[in-house]
Amino acid sequence: MQAKPLSLLIAAAFAACGAHAVVTPQMIDNDARSTEDVLSWGIGTQGQRYSPLKTINTGNVARLVPAWSFSFGGEKQRGQESQPVLHNGKMFVTASYSRLFALDAATGKKLWKYEHRLPDGIMPCCDVINRGAALYDNLVIFATLDAQLVALNQDTGDVVWKEKIDDYHAGYSASAAPIIAGGLLLTGVSGGEFGVVGRVEARDPKTGALVWVRPTVEGHMGTTYDADGNPKDNGITGTVNKSWPGDLWKTGGAATWLGGTYDAKTGLAYFGTGNPAPWNSHLRQGDNLYSCSTVAIDVKTGQIKWHYQSTPNDGWDFDGVNEFVTFDMDGRRVGAKADRNGFFYVNDASTGQLLNAFPFVKTITWATGIDLKTGRPNFVPENRPGDPTAGADGKKGNVVLAAPSFLGGKNQMPMAYSPDTKLFYVPSNEWAMEIWNEPIAYKKGAAYLGAGFTIKTLHDDYIGALRAVDPKSGKIVWEAKNNAPLWGGVLTTGGNLVFWGTPEGYLQAADAKSGKIVWKFQTGSGIVAPPITWQDKGEQYVAVVSGWGGAVPLWGGEVAKKVNYLEQGGSVWVFKLVR
Ligand code: CA
Ligand code: CA
Repeated sequence: MQAKPLSLLIAAAFAACGAHAVVTPQMIDNDARSTEDVLSWGIGTQGQRYSPLKTINTGNVARLVPAWSFSFGGEKQRGQESQPVLHNGKMFVTASYSRLFALDAATGKKLWKYEHRLPDGIMPCCDVINRGAALYDNLVIFATLDAQLVALNQDTGDVVWKEKIDDYHAGYSASAAPIIAGGLLLTGVSGGEFGVVGRVEARDPKTGALVWVRPTVEGHMGTTYDADGNPKDNGITGTVNKSWPGDLWKTGGAATWLGGTYDAKTGLAYFGTGNPAPWNSHLRQGDNLYSCSTVAIDVKTGQIKWHYQSTPNDGWDFDGVNEFVTFDMDGRRVGAKADRNGFFYVNDASTGQLLNAFPFVKTITWATGIDLKTGRPNFVPENRPGDPTAGADGKKGNVVLAAPSFLGGKNQMPMAYSPDTKLFYVPSNEWAMEIWNEPIAYKKGAAYLGAGFTIKTLHDDYIGALRAVDPKSGKIVWEAKNNAPLWGGVLTTGGNLVFWGTPEGYLQAADAKSGKIVWKFQTGSGIVAPPITWQDKGEQYVAVVSGWGGAVPLWGGEVAKKVNYLEQGGSVWVFKLVR
């Protein structure tokens, strides 16, 4: 780590000489403001997904037309949840089955392709998706379904380094976009339905060498590594068995499967954690820390600075993985999260103190609200799925109809925040589930749920709703309903626009203040990915990946049947204004 300042100086010198600059930590910290590149998932590590660009605006968006489209090709379609990144005129976009394409951002011409060789027996829970890559120096780095990290040369696509995160036979996989925070590569793990142990890992992005590892299940050791790669004990997270009974913490879940955000101002990385394992909550009385939480980690030390648990002793698979997006409110740095459990939370970004919490979906059955003093939900005990051992045959607990469904008031699709309107734009869904508990024991590499379920619709005319949410008042300022469940992310711009895609195939834009839909385009397959925007030689571009899939067709019960007419695909669409 000693040599870093020198390498940064050299990079800065290259930039000053006009040579092709490599991506530096400073450029990544400035990503949200630099409009000619998109260096990180979230369009800036804070995850606001806001661009100050206003060349395209409410007055001229009707003239937005395709500039080019690129097909991922082959028979490998399925869900495309990727956000492209962009640097030096090159677009880097990941695709299903752990593929990565480098494209000329001006023309869509393919520069190179990397296809990861996936073994048989991988266990991705929720389709063969990938959410995007990270850029650092001359590398493009992404995670694969067999739980590896691969760093490729941006110019040639050659593999520079490859590291195994964990054992895919034990249910580990990886699909989130890594982020660069404080010069470190941060990644999480997927596999919460298989009793994995969630964690956040920091690596040297140039070599892949581990710097620290911080598990997100209370009781597990954190580890730091010296320059020679020797591990050093870094203290446990909390107290063994304080919030878990028996040995259940050893296979506790809390997977960090959506990755994280980072705020250079607080020096903290924010990772959401998934469900505690197994789903049957009666087996694990207690809060089951740090499941279903936001965990704020000091990137310099790997220590958990604070945590906030949205669903203690979760019994509904309300993964708390959703992105924690930092912003300024009343002169204070805060962060917001629209949780899968249906509530929207605002916490102090430095301390975690809960400042506000309110529903962003209309039907919530499991809690009546959030106590702002204690930070805890006011549970509805009769809406917790029953204990199977209490039943006559001991095989099935009481069935409850709970909302939101475990697919969430919001799922993997990231929201956006506009500092102009001071509103969050939240892709939300209204649906419910029948859920019940069953006996279960942990077995390596097998599903570890102890529950059964069916997803149900609540309304005939809509499931999805893009909602403009005021984080101060808790009011929904406007909403745009959608027949199918929304599963793509959101982009907002200085042009007073909000862009998002629908499973029906449209990329569309609304007036950010009024919610009036002012433009849409049919991409030919469902959109389950977040759009981006950038400018090049004075031209503003908008891009989105199209390709229906993800968790809904696999797990969606009655909803999956309702939307089974939607076709698969796999392509990038890029738009610009016609003159
Ligand atoms: Ca940028
Ligand atoms: Ca889960």
